[in-house]
Amino acid sequence: MSSPVRRAINTVETAVQRTYRGWIEHASMCDECRATGNQCSTAEKVWQAYQAAQSEVRSL
Ligand SMILES: [Zn+2]
Repeated sequence: MSSPVRRAINTVETAVQRTYRGWIEHASMCDECRATGNQCSTAEKVWQAYQAAQSEVRSL
């Protein structure tokens, strides 16, 4: 049995995993990120989405 709270947790946990994977994938494919070791503006957006998903997990 899954409660509404459990479902909400699953949803944000999925969001964390998805955004983190997106960030890893970007970092491995982006020439700018790989060449400089810094985050380009796209990586910054992906990272912020990941941070936002994480803080949502903590707020549950
Ligand atoms: Zn990049």
